[in-house]
Amino acid sequence: MAVRACGLIIYRRLQSAPSSKVTDGIEYLLLQTSYGTHHWTPPKGHVDPGEDDLQTAFRETQEEAGLQANQLTLIEGYKKVLHYPAHGKPKTVVYWLAEVKDYNTEIKLSEEHQAFQWLKLEDACKFAAYEDMQTTLKEAHEFLCSKK
Ligand code: AMP
Repeated sequence: MAVRACGLIIYRRLQSAPSSKVTDGIEYLLLQTSYGTHHWTPPKGHVDPGEDDLQTAFRETQEEAGLQANQLTLIEGYKKVLHYPAHGKPKTVVYWLAEVKDYNTEIKLSEEHQAFQWLKLEDACKFAAYEDMQTTLKEAHEFLCSKK
């Protein structure tokens, strides 16, 4: 059976002028792992026994980025499932999309990560080296573009 993990693609948005597009000023949060190849990823982690997927996504975001559920707005209608091999075992990762309510919210890392960045889509795709993660970020961005 595949290892299962869940997380949140977190973004923040500068309050923009009424004439600007909804996606102007959007930045995505990526964390750099302190393990392995030090890749960049949204907060996510393994599902604990008795937890549902969304609970895991919020718990891991709290543990890895210091963001509480009440600091976030979950964006309805977006969900992405990735499958990749990790440490020789198949892994499934489910992501939702969430906006940080306060642009200036502090990020507090755990020992699992050594750095974080808020990045515009293009730069986020450069740091998120895996193609499926790049596609995920682009799809999330298009989803936000399509919203009023
Ligand atoms: P993670 O799932 O981010 O904890 O990473 C576990 C292992 O899987 C590490 O060796 C990563 O380099 C690798 N990995 C992470 N994300 C991906 C992905 N999207 N596609 C393929 N491999 C990945």
